[in-house]
Amino acid sequence: MAKVDPNGSLRGKVALVTGASRGIGEAIAARLAMEGAKVVCSARTAETGDSKLPGTLHATVDRIRAAGGDATFIKADLSSADDRERLVAEAVATYGPVDILINNAAVTFFIPVETFPKKRFDLMMEVQVWAPFHLSQLVLPSMRERRSGWIVNISSPAGIHPKQPYNRRGGGTVYGMCKAALERFTTGLASEVFDDNIAVNVVSPGLVDTPGVAVHGLINEQTKDRVQPIEFIAEAVYRLASGDPKTMTGRVDYAEPLLKELGIAPSELV
Ligand code: NAP
Repeated sequence: MAKVDPNGSLRGKVALVTGASRGIGEAIAARLAMEGAKVVCSARTAETGDSKLPGTLHATVDRIRAAGGDATFIKADLSSADDRERLVAEAVATYGPVDILINNAAVTFFIPVETFPKKRFDLMMEVQVWAPFHLSQLVLPSMRERRSGWIVNISSPAGIHPKQPYNRRGGGTVYGMCKAALERFTTGLASEVFDDNIAVNVVSPGLVDTPGVAVHGLINEQTKDRVQPIEFIAEAVYRLASGDPKTMTGRVDYAEPLLKELGIAPSELV
């Protein structure tokens, strides 16, 4: 039975999860709370009506609190530098310095290169690449000072170079560029902060049934057998957000092989 363990392995730890109003971010927030973390959930959608998509920060926090966990939400638009700075400042004011940063939020447009608008390119790069970079800059000084911290960036197999036979419909080039940059950022930062005892890793989900995936119609007859339970991603993120920073850092992991390597089955979520 899924439950919150207030004395779990993340007891006393403060986790900040972006994109926690729905989908994978919501699941990650629940998983970290189950281990006793104090979880700050962030996104733009606080209440029903703020977005056309299902899911709200309020509902994520209610779900965690109903199970006995500790969570709060801070509304922030990650395309805004002011919001990013306010997000971290408010998180610290509420729960104390951030121990675990999960960069999960993403906005994605699938459009071929030839007609990709600059405005959308900039927005994707801002939310998917620069926001994780900037949020890391904002939490790193206190992690360094305390010689402890975990950053997990959520990537995608889209970051891998396409191989023949090509899917000529395409449209995922910019998404792949964002995720490739995020992965290279991860391994670079992991090496920079290794001596400070800070772990920086990637979890790369396969296809997961989320509101975002539904919008893009990514689950169909050809792909339905590849759909991965959301619990796998949440478990993999929890493990990389709590592992030994000396050995579990600089990794770019797919959830299932990582859990297999660790000999762990994913927990049900509260
Ligand atoms: P989703 O259902 O579309 O949710 C995306 C989240 O990001 C939402 O909480 C959304 O919240 C937030 N977000 C978007 N733009 C934002 C902005 N400007 N400021 C703040 N928050 C923003 O996505 P998902 O499927 O759960 O995917 C989560 C992550 O996994 C993404 O990084 C995605 O690339 C990656 N991924 C997913 C899959 C999959 O199959 N689902 C596969 C590979 C990788 P608001 O709209 O409330 O702001």
